[in-house]
Amino acid sequence: MKMMDTIVVGAGIAGLTAARLLHAAGQRVVVLEARDRVGGRMWTDRTAGFSVDRGASWIHGLTGNPLTELVTALGMETREFTVGSFQAGGRPIADYDESRRLLDDDATQQWTGDVDTADALLLLTIAESGHDESYATAAERTLAATGWEPERAERIRMFYRHRTEEQCGAEAEQVAAHALDEDTIEGDEVIFPGGYDVLPHALAEGLDVRLGTTVTAITRSPARVRVDTEDESFDAAQVIVTVPLGVLKAGAIEFTPALPDTVAGPIARLGMGVFNKVFLQFPERFWQNDVYAIRQHGRAGVPWHSWYDVSVVSGEPMLLTFAGGAWGREIEQKTDEEVVSSVLDSLRKIYGDSVPDPVAHWITRWGIDPLAHGSYSYVAVGSSHDDHDAMAGPVDGVLHFAGEATCGHEPATVHGALHSGQRAAERILGSPISLAELTQGVHPSR
Ligand SMILES: Cc1cc2nc3c(=O)[nH]c(=O)nc-3n(C[C@H](O)[C@H](O)[C@H](O)COP(=O)(O)OP(=O)(O)OC[C@H]3O[C@@H](n4cnc5c(N)ncnc54)[C@H](O)[C@@H]3O)c2cc1C
Repeated sequence: MKMMDTIVVGAGIAGLTAARLLHAAGQRVVVLEARDRVGGRMWTDRTAGFSVDRGASWIHGLTGNPLTELVTALGMETREFTVGSFQAGGRPIADYDESRRLLDDDATQQWTGDVDTADALLLLTIAESGHDESYATAAERTLAATGWEPERAERIRMFYRHRTEEQCGAEAEQVAAHALDEDTIEGDEVIFPGGYDVLPHALAEGLDVRLGTTVTAITRSPARVRVDTEDESFDAAQVIVTVPLGVLKAGAIEFTPALPDTVAGPIARLGMGVFNKVFLQFPERFWQNDVYAIRQHGRAGVPWHSWYDVSVVSGEPMLLTFAGGAWGREIEQKTDEEVVSSVLDSLRKIYGDSVPDPVAHWITRWGIDPLAHGSYSYVAVGSSHDDHDAMAGPVDGVLHFAGEATCGHEPATVHGALHSGQRAAERILGSPISLAELTQGVHPSR
């Protein structure tokens, strides 16, 4: 049994932030991580010689975001790519109508104008919605209020469905009307040619991180905690648990005494969404130059509707598409070949049979990953953003939770997870801590 000041469970961005800040304040900290790598849902695959971010890839809005200073301080290279949050306009997108005709400038303007009009109405509808109403219900009330003809309304309806699939990893019927209230982007978005996981690797430098160490049980008493792993036990004054919400929902860690309703309630009520990525590397480019994304509108966009040109990251002709919600879970049961051929079917309907077979592909399956059980949390019907913050605890003054799911104002993001780690460390130390402490003595490790 080893006595520590604080044990941190999970070496994702939340856990590493908390551990680094506590370590900088002189605490004895150990980080217990089940995987054989740090970063959690920040995970860059470099096997092909370029970066493929299988988890997070975007900073969603540079303005007022603590990540901006952090990645600058670490010298991480970024590229502007402001379509990471399912925008309809703002940057060039090749939009295709239901008959798979490319929208001209006028039609594109009308489309983005329709999204803006509907969004303004949707905000008003949501403001009047209760916690038991779904995003789908709010969307239907909004579309009815527009008085638009069926086809015009259907295009927006599909856009809204894809919005919750992507932003929440869930269907519009499962997601609360208020779920995306916090989802505003301030400033440009950027991606990382060198891979986003440079950040967690840098934060892990110099910390005592035990990889391959799966926590199975946490027992607390008023003054201490015991954390059991598959092989040994650790003792500490405090513990910060940063495992994903899906892992807590699955009961993978046994808490003794059982978690109080103040924390167990939010864990049960919040949703854990599934959002998967499919990267296809092609022998040559067959789509337009200078577009950020390709988007198929309406029912023709089921199941694949958006492709992002990530050649800017890889230096190779490469498209990234997403599968969220029910479809995201469904593809996890398919073979790689089935998924790739399904994506190609959709692309060939737009660009014709000359679309070549890809030379390589990458497909994620976050829903069946036992150390994630999903991609990120969302406000499900019947829950609220307050549930995210309530989940953080602390319980009995010794058990803290952190991670994206515990951050009410920015859930499902890297910066939300970062904030939650900082908050947990501040609660333990009992005083505010500057994030500038994070970059002391670190440099990009790759
Ligand atoms: C496909 C995808 C795309 C995304 N895109 C973006 C994006 O572009 N921008 C953005 O801001 N966010 C994005 N996100 C969300 C972002 O990745 C997460 O919000 C953030 O990385 C979560 O960090 P965390 O520290 O809360 O959790 P994690 O990174 O999941 O860390 C938790 C750690 O706990 C470990 N663990 C689990 N169980 C145990 C156990 N029993 N014992 C010990 N360790 C355990 C896990 O292995 C993991 O390393 C995306 C997520 C996914 C999945």
